[in-house]
Amino acid sequence: APAGETLTVEDLSVHYGGVCAVRSISFTVAPGQSVGIIGANGAGKTSTLKALMGLVPRSGGRVRYGGTDLAKVKARDVVRRGIGYVPEGRHVFPGLPVEKNLMLGAYARSWRDPGTRETLEEVYDLFPVLREMRGRLAGALSGGQQQMLAVGRALMARPRLLLLDEPSMGLSPKLVEDILAVLLRLREEGLSLLLVEQNAKLTFEATGDCVVMENGEVAMTGTSRELREDVRVRRIYLGL
Ligand code: ATP
Repeated sequence: APAGETLTVEDLSVHYGGVCAVRSISFTVAPGQSVGIIGANGAGKTSTLKALMGLVPRSGGRVRYGGTDLAKVKARDVVRRGIGYVPEGRHVFPGLPVEKNLMLGAYARSWRDPGTRETLEEVYDLFPVLREMRGRLAGALSGGQQQMLAVGRALMARPRLLLLDEPSMGLSPKLVEDILAVLLRLREEGLSLLLVEQNAKLTFEATGDCVVMENGEVAMTGTSRELREDVRVRRIYLGL
């Protein structure tokens, strides 16, 4: 995959009415870098990703992807610029077949683009179970398979930066291992990742750098290796 651009988040804030969900947070994701955001339920992680995608309004700050100011770009044009998004809770279309769900991920490209078929085969190579299930309704898949489908669907737009919102949610430890293997493989292929998770253990294994969010703010940043050894992080986020 081509290298992509640097995502630069500066002093980003998100308010819902009078409630501040994200307070002036800053971080960057360079091409090929894998960055995690960990935090408890309600820390502001989902709001951060939604604000990057233009799905909730920003109340302050700047978000740039390379030279582009994302404040001026609509959600589907964010995808066109190479940023993919896997929302929390998967949101696959249960009444549509697996392959149709995947093809819908290519909506930002032309369906006649001959590359779309090629990308579909790449996604099937990454997730052989989706190839086996290509004709089945998405609603008939297990939770883990639906998560793979949600990731595969985002990959159909050929992103260079992938935002993932709690891909491990509700999955068994075995399936969390499968998600980790997929994330490591995507990293190896040069995709940049921004992974939002409550599962700190998974995040430290999948990323090189992390942001810890508490009450809408950045509480700590560092390399994933440093943070996983931090006494406070171990106590609060790893339960050790
Ligand atoms: P989760 O683990 O639930 O995804 P999170 O860290 O992603 O948590 P957010 O979902 O971003 O956190 O929520 C941050 C804060 O904003 C919380 O206090 C939440 O109650 C509040 N919030 C989120 N969405 C809305 C909304 N649509 N309207 C009002 N308040 C909201």
